[in-house]
Amino acid sequence: MFREFDLSEDTSSQRLGTRFLVFPQPRFIPGYEKPEPVWISTPRGRVGGGPSDHRLYVVDPLRPKEPYSAPYLPPFIGDVFPPAEPGPDGHFDELLPGTRQFLAAHAFASVRRVLDICESYMGQEVSWFFSDSYKRLEIIPLLDWDNSHSGYGFLELGEDSSRQEPYPFALNFDAIAHETGHLLLLGAIGVPRHSRLSVDFLAYHEAAADFISLLGLLHFDTALDHILRRTRGNLLISNELDRLAELSDEKQVRTLSHSLRIGDVGDEAHDRSRPFSGALFDTLVEIFQLILVERGLASLDTRTIREVRLDLRQEELDREAVQLREAYNASHFALKSALEEARDLVGEMFVGSWFYLDPDNFSFPMASEALVQAVSNRRGKRFTDRVYLNFAWRGLL
Ligand SMILES: [Zn+2]
Repeated sequence: MFREFDLSEDTSSQRLGTRFLVFPQPRFIPGYEKPEPVWISTPRGRVGGGPSDHRLYVVDPLRPKEPYSAPYLPPFIGDVFPPAEPGPDGHFDELLPGTRQFLAAHAFASVRRVLDICESYMGQEVSWFFSDSYKRLEIIPLLDWDNSHSGYGFLELGEDSSRQEPYPFALNFDAIAHETGHLLLLGAIGVPRHSRLSVDFLAYHEAAADFISLLGLLHFDTALDHILRRTRGNLLISNELDRLAELSDEKQVRTLSHSLRIGDVGDEAHDRSRPFSGALFDTLVEIFQLILVERGLASLDTRTIREVRLDLRQEELDREAVQLREAYNASHFALKSALEEARDLVGEMFVGSWFYLDPDNFSFPMASEALVQAVSNRRGKRFTDRVYLNFAWRGLL
């Protein structure tokens, strides 16, 4: 049973958290064949069988189950597979990939990781939007279903059948982080009271969920190394030509690196989400570039150019590309630290903007304005004008 969460009872080694293995990308993506150790914040010894802790738990139904749909909602009642259990040391990193228990632990750790990241940017715990009815989120790790979804008290994962060999979404960090993003956003900004949701609100949800998935990816060492090594640290320039998407194996980068403006997309939520998530991505890439300039690691200062995606001249781009490439091996770790800093500045701004949003009175210009406001009150203040210009260029401000 669950005791109330009181950190004072734990020893300092328990407070380090609990270790799991997570694949940053599906393991058929080159370079991501092995899972990476991830520490979640729940103290060792406080994650029980399932896995389960005070915020979420996994149950793995033994027999085929229909996806939840109101009024059919958690908790799941019925026979279940044996739960994933911690090893004798209290960690979950000894489970074998290929077992149902590994699947359960992978889904649990992926959700928990995204929660940890967003809550640390927000500086506070985000309560579940369904906390009136349920204290914890229920995760169903494997349904015989070609989809995954989240809703009132649950997250359910099926299988991606678009591949010759179906791939469980429980092993797909990107898909889980996206769904967790929806849940967190509903918890943080609330559920609209009107039954008629605005097109922008639905589209913003998709953009936010995609961007949270990218922020989650950028917390994996493997992902930072691969993205930087593949591009030789040349994110801005690759992105300018929309080549970063082509050069990338990571789904998050392929989705977010493009030059669509609001006038280029229709009303369907996923389509309409793209200019906003693209602007967030460009902001991240530009802030990374400017941190490189501040630290003497690059020379192309985008502040001397009025509009980021339009006015870069080819010779400037070429010169910068050569400089970064030649210096790359000697500066990999400095570049990585700059990318982590840019990620965190943009992460804080993005999650911080949620404080200014009202789901019942919502539009993309308001959400963009909220970002400008959030960054101007935070560590990334010196980049406020860049945030403004990136969103203005997309037609969002
Ligand atoms: Zn979605």
